[in-house]
Amino acid sequence: MASVALKVRKHLSADALFRLVHTGFDHIPDYRPADVDIALPDVLMSAFAMFSLKAPSLLAFDKERTEGNLHTIYGIQRVPCDTYMREILDPVSPKWLRPVFTSVFRQLQRGKALESRTFLDGHYLLALDGTEYFSSKTIHCASCLHRVHRNGSLTYAHQLLGAAIIHPDQRAVIPLMPEPIINRDGTDKNDCERNAAKRFVAKLRQDHPHLKLIVTEDSLSSNAPHIETLQDHDLHYILGVKEGDHAYLFQEVQAAEHAGRVISYERHDRAAGLVHRFRFLHDVPLHASHAEVRVNFIEYWEMGQDKVQHFSWITDLRVTKRHVFHLMRGGRARWKIENETFNTLKNQGSHFEHNYGHGEQHLSVVFAMLMMLAFLVDQAQQLCCAWFRAVWRKLGSKRLLWERMRALCYTYALTSMRQLFEALLYGFKRSSLLIPMDSS
Ligand SMILES: [Zn+2]
Repeated sequence: MASVALKVRKHLSADALFRLVHTGFDHIPDYRPADVDIALPDVLMSAFAMFSLKAPSLLAFDKERTEGNLHTIYGIQRVPCDTYMREILDPVSPKWLRPVFTSVFRQLQRGKALESRTFLDGHYLLALDGTEYFSSKTIHCASCLHRVHRNGSLTYAHQLLGAAIIHPDQRAVIPLMPEPIINRDGTDKNDCERNAAKRFVAKLRQDHPHLKLIVTEDSLSSNAPHIETLQDHDLHYILGVKEGDHAYLFQEVQAAEHAGRVISYERHDRAAGLVHRFRFLHDVPLHASHAEVRVNFIEYWEMGQDKVQHFSWITDLRVTKRHVFHLMRGGRARWKIENETFNTLKNQGSHFEHNYGHGEQHLSVVFAMLMMLAFLVDQAQQLCCAWFRAVWRKLGSKRLLWERMRALCYTYALTSMRQLFEALLYGFKRSSLLIPMDSS
C-alpha cells in the first residue's frame, strides 16, 4: 500500500485536543482536602476517555492492559475504579466544564476550522433544542425533574437544552456546552426549557460576545418572550411556526395575501423532480397580545411527484426571492441537532443509567456533559484531522472505527492517538510516514 502524506493541523489533532481538554480539567478546583490519591483531572479525564473510546462502561476497560494507553494517549496518571470515579465526580458542579468546551471551540476558531461553516453574511447557524436523555421510576438524584402522574406515581427525568453549530451542506456539527434542565434546589420545583434557554443565551454571550449567530429552533420556541430574549442578546433567528399553534399569525398572513402584500416565488428542480414553492411577507405581528413583536414569515412547499412537504418559519432576517431558498435550507437543517447530536447521547445513553451510574447530586449531569465534550472533540477531528478522516473512510463507519480503536487500545501499547490511527490505516508494524505539520 502506498503511503500517503496527510496534512494535519497540529493544534487540532486528536492528541493536541486531548491535551487541551486535560489542561482545562487542570483548572477545575478540587473540593477535596489536599492529600488525595487520585487527582481530580485524572478522574475527569478517565470519564472523558470512557466516552471518547465509546466504552460501554468503565468495567469494560481491562485496566491491566489499558492503563498504559490511558497514560500515554489521554495523559492520565492514575485511573480510578468505577465506584471511585462516581464518588469523586458526583459533587462536581457541571458549570466547571464550560471553559473546557469554550477552549476547544476557540481552538477551532483559531485553526480557521469554522470559517467554511458560515451560513449567511458571516453568521453561523446555531440549532437549539431540548431533549430528555434519562427517565426512571426508581433511580433519582437531587437534580432529577419530577413528573407526577394521575395515579400519584412519580417519574424522574433528566433533560437538557442542546446547542450545536450546524450547516445545511455539512455533516459535522459543533456542539456547545448544553444547558441542563434540572431540579434546581432538590425540591420538586421543576426547571423548564424556556428558563434553560434564557440561561443558555446569557452564558453564550458571556463566552462568545461577538460571535455572529442565527438561531434556529422548532415551533415551541416561537413566542414573544423568547424572541425578545434572542433580540436582547443580538441573536438573529429562523424559528418554526405551526398553524395550529400560531393561528393569529396565519390569519394575518391570509389577510395580507388578500391585500396583495405577500410575495410568491417558485423554483423548479427538474433533475430531482421537485418544485419548491414559497410565499413570504415582512413585518407581521406574531401574537395578538404582543403586537410589538413583528416578524417576517416564510411558508414553503416541497412538491415531489407523489409527496408534498410543508414548512413555515418566522425570522428577523430580510427575505428576498434571491435567498429565500437558502433561508429555507437553514430552517430545515434544524433536524441535525436531533439526528447528528442527540443521537450520539441517546445511542450511547440507552444504557446510560445501567453503565455509568446516576449519583445523588450532579453525577448524571456531569457524565452527560463529558459525553457531549467527547462528541465535540470527535467532531473537531472529523472536521480537521486527516488521520481520523482517512481511517473513517477506510473502515466505512464510525461504529467500526470505535470498535477497532478500542480493540487496539486493549491489545497494544501505544504512544499517541496518531500512532493508533496509523496502525488502523496501515497495520501495526508500519508507522514511519511523512506527516507534514502546518502551524495553523
Ligand atoms: Zn437525577
